[in-house]
Amino acid sequence: MNMNDIILKKRNGEALSKKEIEDVIKGYTKGDIPDYQMSSLLMAIYFQKMNSEETFALTNAMRFSGDIIDLSNIKGIKVDKHSTGGVGDKVTLIVAPTAAACGVSIAKMSGRGLGFTGGTIDKLEAIPGFKTSLDAEDFVNQVNNIGIAVIGQTNDIAPADKKIYALRDVTGTVDNLSLISSSIMSKKLASGSDAIVLDVKCGKGAFMESEEDAIKLGKAMCEIGEFAGKKTVALITDMNQPLGCAVGNSLEIIEAIETLKGNGPKDIYELSTTIAGIMIYLGGRVKSPNEGKIMAIQAIESGAALEKFKKFINAQGGDENIVENYDILPKSKFEVDFKAVESGYLKSIDAKMIGLASQKIGAGRMTKDDKIDLSAGILLSKKVGNKISKGDKIATLYGNDKKKLESILKDISKAFIITQNKVEEESLVKEILGF
Ligand code: URA
Repeated sequence: MNMNDIILKKRNGEALSKKEIEDVIKGYTKGDIPDYQMSSLLMAIYFQKMNSEETFALTNAMRFSGDIIDLSNIKGIKVDKHSTGGVGDKVTLIVAPTAAACGVSIAKMSGRGLGFTGGTIDKLEAIPGFKTSLDAEDFVNQVNNIGIAVIGQTNDIAPADKKIYALRDVTGTVDNLSLISSSIMSKKLASGSDAIVLDVKCGKGAFMESEEDAIKLGKAMCEIGEFAGKKTVALITDMNQPLGCAVGNSLEIIEAIETLKGNGPKDIYELSTTIAGIMIYLGGRVKSPNEGKIMAIQAIESGAALEKFKKFINAQGGDENIVENYDILPKSKFEVDFKAVESGYLKSIDAKMIGLASQKIGAGRMTKDDKIDLSAGILLSKKVGNKISKGDKIATLYGNDKKKLESILKDISKAFIITQNKVEEESLVKEILGF
């Protein structure tokens, strides 16, 4: 293989062969191909794009670049769920125990926050004692015993993607359809579940801002999943305003528990029961996603989903008393309120601005080695469509550095737009692909 010829071929708009793609991925993972040549190829892919065959070849080459998780010792159909990343997205914490309470096996690997978006593993680490890594045997045993285990992605899963993602992050080559879909699906396929539910976010707080691009991404990932023989469903969902009211790790754990108690914000409850319903259907427990949704609602209303959540926390060393006593979770020393300067209706809340503000307060990392402040974040008191009177509290910022909180208060004022006209709520689930 001559890397320069491959770069030229892609730069000139030609399709790469499966063998060429495999050689590039092997060579780059081993360190035989330098970053400058890989960056150049990524930029050529960015502009010239890849067709379905190339995208599938890239996915598989990255999928098989490290360990493949063997879940065959786990009984039943294993269903995975993945979000393309959002602000306030604590859905995994709700759907995983809910689907498990309905008899679906959940053997899930989750990620950490990326930029202004949050990650399930960071959120779970807000629970005192909770272990986000288990060895393979304990992982499988836990799923067989209680139906659910959620751990962090190991370094040995799709290492090629890990290396390429880090390069894309600093070379302006993240937001390309083939590169995103192969990155996500290589990890999902290496993680061994039988069926995959993808929550593809669109809007201001998502990698794909337009609904059209999100649909293309969802379709590409469903196609890759089906090529690999896994039933794959993609929901296209709104990420213009944060999901729910809580943004930040400890705050989101509380909101997830409240949702499992049946008291969560409407949007989180709606999306979680829809996704859990699809997972329950793909897990073979019911005849349709709708029946699955009814079953998910019953699991929440009966308390079964919350009981499963407690068992899961306990099994991974966490303190299950958090469910009754939120004071056990990390708490910030300071809080400041953001208040409305005029009356009207809340027209929009810029999810990206809120995500960035929360990241700056300490709830996310500014550099990859930063330590997160698990107590920090933002709690919204109002959502899009709400009527507002001047002086009403719209949001509260939590953190341990008062000066920082006060300076961020100024930043977030631009995130809230108030109008004099009544605002129609947008539908949260735009489309469901893959059925
Ligand atoms: N998440 C990933 O894992 N990869 C991407 O490329 C984008 C989001």
